[in-house]
This record gives sequence, structure tokens and C-alpha cells, in this order.
Amino acid sequence: MSTDETTDTPMAIALAAAEAAAGRGEVPVGAVILSADGELLATAGNRIVELKDPTAHAEILAIRAAAERLGSERLIGCDLYVTLEPCAMCAGAISFARIRRLYYGAEDPKGGAVDNGPRFFGQPTCHHAPEVYGGLSEGPASELLRQFFAARRS
Ligand SMILES: [Zn+2]
Repeated sequence: MSTDETTDTPMAIALAAAEAAAGRGEVPVGAVILSADGELLATAGNRIVELKDPTAHAEILAIRAAAERLGSERLIGCDLYVTLEPCAMCAGAISFARIRRLYYGAEDPKGGAVDNGPRFFGQPTCHHAPEVYGGLSEGPASELLRQFFAARRS
């Protein structure tokens, strides 16, 4: 984990969730959702293997938990922090949830759908696009992924 981050910033919490996911044998991706007034609504890491659910990405789990907590299917004014650039499925869910701002860590040239691949939020069929801020804590986020895949190969 980076030394220039305090342990309680949203991205630091997302990184901790990613680390915990790696400990469960999941690809280390973590996500956090804050309410419009900055309250921590949800924290999640990938649980794809554990739940035997290909849709159990950190962002999806965090969106479900935040929606349940708010009692609303729309997360108006909420901000989502995730350690890796969201995939197409998660970008769709972020749009449907009406997330206000998306902060992500490492870019994902292979599977990302925000600044890579389909660039979901820029498509005319995307009816709500969050403000996007990439590269937040990019170093520690990509280091977690690198270590995870290096350990798997060895
Ligand atoms: Zn995803």
C-alpha cells in the first residue's frame, strides 16, 4: 500500500478491500461508495469465486449494498471509488445507478470499458455518465494486481 495515502481515504479503504479479496483467492479489486454527504455506504471486494457468480465484481456488490442501505434503486449524488477501471458490465451498472463521480485506480487496457475498449460512458446509448477521474492511487492498485497474478503463475 502506498505511503502517501492515509488509511481512511475512500481509495485506501477500496485498496484494503482489494487486498482482502486477494486473501480469498479473488482478483484483487475493491470498491467503496460514498453518499452525497460523504457517508461511507458500502465497501466490497470481488467475490466471484466465493459466490460462484461471474457478476460478483466489487462495483456490483457495492452498488447493491448501497442501494439496499439507501432504500433506493438510484444512488443520486453518490460517488464510487474502485481500484481498477470498471468493465463493461460495471460501467453499465454505474450508469443505471446514477453514480455522480467515478474514481478509479489502475487502467485496464484488456478489460476496462471507461477509458479503454467500448468507452461505455461516451456512447450515445448511455443515458447517464458519471464524472470520471482515473489514476487515483494507480501505483498501489496495479501493484496488488501484479503481485496476485505473479503469485498465481509461480
Ligand atoms: Zn466489472
